[in-house]
Order: sequence, then structure tokens, then C-alpha cells
Amino acid sequence: MNNFLSAEARSLAPYTPGEQPRDQQYVKLNTNESPFPPSRRVLKALSRAELLKLNLYSDPACTQLNAAIAAHYGLRPENVVSGNGSDEILAFAFRAFCGTGRPVAYADVTYSFYQAQAALFGLEARVIPLREDFTLNADDYMDFPGTIVIASPNAPTGIAVPREDVQRLLEADPNRVVIVDEAYVDFGGESCVPMLFRYDNLLVVQTMSKSRQLAGGRVGFALGGEALIGALNRVKYSFNPYNVNRLSLIAGTAAMEDEAYFQSCCGTIRENRAWLTEELEGLGFTVLPSSANFVFAKSGRLGGGELYRRLKENGILVRWFDKDRIRDFIRITVGSMEQLAALTDELAQMLEEV
Ligand SMILES: *Cc1c(COP(=O)(O)O)cnc(C)c1O
Repeated sequence: MNNFLSAEARSLAPYTPGEQPRDQQYVKLNTNESPFPPSRRVLKALSRAELLKLNLYSDPACTQLNAAIAAHYGLRPENVVSGNGSDEILAFAFRAFCGTGRPVAYADVTYSFYQAQAALFGLEARVIPLREDFTLNADDYMDFPGTIVIASPNAPTGIAVPREDVQRLLEADPNRVVIVDEAYVDFGGESCVPMLFRYDNLLVVQTMSKSRQLAGGRVGFALGGEALIGALNRVKYSFNPYNVNRLSLIAGTAAMEDEAYFQSCCGTIRENRAWLTEELEGLGFTVLPSSANFVFAKSGRLGGGELYRRLKENGILVRWFDKDRIRDFIRITVGSMEQLAALTDELAQMLEEV
């Protein structure tokens, strides 16, 4: 073990990002990015005049971006905080709402960054198993005396949690914060945003990485009542006040304002998801019901690791988690029809040979 590490750094559990190859050789279906380019309005807004302002700090209050987000959801700017990706927002939330006497609870099969953050902040974490079919049983969280984090739709399963379940958890203990990570909600599932007006212990976290073509722009945000948003700002201003850079503020604002492009991209992904699901089922795969821009699928004939390796050898990247309960599955991002056809052709050939 490295002698330079602090005791705290020794107990970290760093997240392993999906592969990001530097060349364009792969059909890239492994990290749930959008296959479409950013909105034309984004490209236009990123002008040379804006580049020439990079000598100046960005707006720490993210005024225009937060206003655009608030307008989209019918909220007030005071209900929004923006971050350098929603991973940063989640970190703010973990720091703000968890700690001494306030443990955190999340599912056994969910976004593995929660575990990384819990370790980063030295939190006591309760890991609660999903049901056999990978749905979440809200009753298991009812009496939990701490902060609850739920991804809905969940990653990597794609399964959405009914809004009523979140509501029950919010009502069971108004002093407990429930964080709903809606990174994929624009592709299906019911958003908890409308419940923000009734519950001041609800924090909804979203991102522009999956449904707004800005994964590389790193723009995420949280929506909540003023107490929760104030708490997040307290952490933000203790960590990185200029957390969203100038270009990302501009890109995020323009992406939020282009409703037509957003709707059309999400619609295409939903259509492609239906096509991919049917094709995979035709090839003998079991596909979990997905409300996201990916599907989680297993073949009765080849294990997840084997599928992942063989696809990679043939130029197609998908995600595989070498983890109990989900080792047989691969997670496939719903890309363009061209990408998906390349995948299903390859799978058909591969399965013919076994
Ligand atoms: C992708 C993802 C995020 C984080 O996305 P950012 O790029 O950091 O905004 C958060 N939660 C879940 C469940 C995700 O899959």
C-alpha cells in the first residue's frame, strides 16, 4: 500500500468508469451517452466571443443556467443548484445530508458511485437488496433512520420505481431526506419533480449527460425546496464555488432551451429501445423492462463476461459488471439504429457458433 495515502484515502472505494477509448474504432454502447450531437443551439451559443472570455471566472451562482432549468420545470431559480455533472451534485448531497448519526441507504444493485461517495465521506451505509426480480421494495426502507438514495429508473437495471413508493418514504419521516436520482427519467418512468411542491425532504437529481447530449460538458443539477438547495450550496461553496465552467454554463442553458430537439432525441431513443428489446428477445435474451436509454439483458447461452469480451474483440463496447446477482447480464446503451444493427448482427453470428 502506498505510504503517502492518508488513512481516509486508504478506505476509499473508487468508481470504475466505463472504458473511454481515444479512437473511434468501437461501436460505443457502454456508458449511456447520447448517440446524437449536441443541439445546434448549443453549437451556436459556444461562440468565439464566449471563448475569448475564458480568462474570466464563470458565474458561481449559475444564474442563467439555473433560470433555464427552473423555467423548464415550472420552479423558481432558488429551487435549483447546478454542478459539474450530477456526480458532483450527488457528492454535495451526500456531504450535506449524511454523516455522524445520519447513515445512508441504497440498493445492492444500483449506481456504484453511491458506494464510492459513501466511502469518500466515511459514511455508515446500509445496502438493501432489491427483490429477486430487481424491483425495489419501499417497505425495506420505511424505518431507515437516515438518508435514502434511489435511482429511478435504476442503473444498471433500467427499472423505474413508482412515484407512490417514493411518496410513502417521504411521508413516513419528514425529517429524512430522500434523494431520487433521475439521470434516466427523460426516457421513461415518472418524475418526482411534481412532488417537490408538497415535500420539502425530497431532492431530485438530474443530468444533461444522457438525454441532452452533453456528457462531455458535465452539467448536472438538483431540484428541491430552499432548505435542501441551501444545504447543497453550503457544501458547494466549501468545495468549488466556480464548479460549472463558462462553456458548460452556456451549453447547458442552450440545451435546456431547445425543447424540440430534446423531445425528438428522447423519442428516437425510446423507439430504438423497443426495437433492440424485440431483437434481443428474438435471439433468446431475457431483457429487463427498461425505462432508460439502455437495456440490461442476459443470454441463456453465453455468460455476461463472455459476451462482453467477444463483442469487444469485434469492435463493440458494452458494459459488464463482474458482481454478484448481475454477472450474467450485459448493459447495452440504446444507440443509433446503425449501432444497434451492428450489435444485433454480431450477437446473432456469435450465438449461432455456440
Ligand atoms: C450517468 C449517471 C449519473 C451521473 O451522470 P453525470 O454525467 O455525472 O451527470 C448519475 N446517476 C446515474 C444513475 C447515472 O447513471
